[in-house]
Amino acid sequence: MKVIHSIHELELARAQLGDAQVGLVPTMGALHPGHLSLVEIANKLTDVVVLSIFVNPLQFGPEEDYARYPRPLQQDLEACEKAGVEIVFNPGVNDLFPAARQVSVQAGPLGTVFEGAARPSHFDGMLTVVLKLLNLVQPTIALFGRKDAQQLASVKRMVTDLNVDVEIVPAPIVRESDGLAMSSRNQYLSPPDRQSAQAIWRALKAASGEVSASAARRTALEVLDQAALGNPNFVLDYAEVVDPDTFAVLDDEDSGPALLAAAAMVGGTRLIDNVELTLAAPAEDEDDTADNRVGAARP
Ligand code: AMP
Repeated sequence: MKVIHSIHELELARAQLGDAQVGLVPTMGALHPGHLSLVEIANKLTDVVVLSIFVNPLQFGPEEDYARYPRPLQQDLEACEKAGVEIVFNPGVNDLFPAARQVSVQAGPLGTVFEGAARPSHFDGMLTVVLKLLNLVQPTIALFGRKDAQQLASVKRMVTDLNVDVEIVPAPIVRESDGLAMSSRNQYLSPPDRQSAQAIWRALKAASGEVSASAARRTALEVLDQAALGNPNFVLDYAEVVDPDTFAVLDDEDSGPALLAAAAMVGGTRLIDNVELTLAAPAEDEDDTADNRVGAARP
């Protein structure tokens, strides 16, 4: 396994790979089985897996956890070696963002709602670094976890809108045994807050059988409101049924694939999760059906 820190070295290593099929797994490190599941998928689909570890300052707000974000590099490298990563790219901030840099990517409307509303400029910063990584690594595919569903949607939007020649492959959410979505940030949680955090998946699971947007939202909110009542450290931000591609809010007129996405601050740590839903078409009103039949019979 090669561990590369400079852009120049990465360019040389990429040139040596020639026409090999390359899979890119972008991460911020503090690797857990969720990240490694992306590596496993990439290994099945491509010849060479490149994993990047870069805690991207552009995607953190001034009050967020950039400085204290965990950076256990040695442990991460061992996990990568075991998982079959060929190249780890671990650049410094000045390598990716030299002082002279001026141009960045704008996520557009998708970057201003839900996670984007809570974290202004987060998606712009994320897309800017993802585009740079795609340009440097020139992968055939790039893997993104469904846990960060709005990130996945934004990356897909960027690749379409900017004609980036890569296939974005989504990966299923990997969970702890109690259902909490794995995250590098879970280690910040105190034991009582860790316990309360389980409510997020409980709420999503309870709502996952619902077939209308309003019922799904209501069921999820019942569980989440209970969690907030039981622990003042649990502060719900949103639980909403959205279009998986645009994050437009869906209502009971909508049918087909949807996401129930939720976010809460638990003891000051932001946790996000989501579940896929299939919304049923609204039942037709009997009167409407009768009217339609009459209408259809007219010449
Ligand atoms: P991060 O290091 O948090 O930026 O995550 C790097 C990649 O791993 C992103 O595509 C995430 O969506 C993905 N990821 C993180 N946690 C999980 C998880 N629990 N299950 C699946 N993918 C995940």
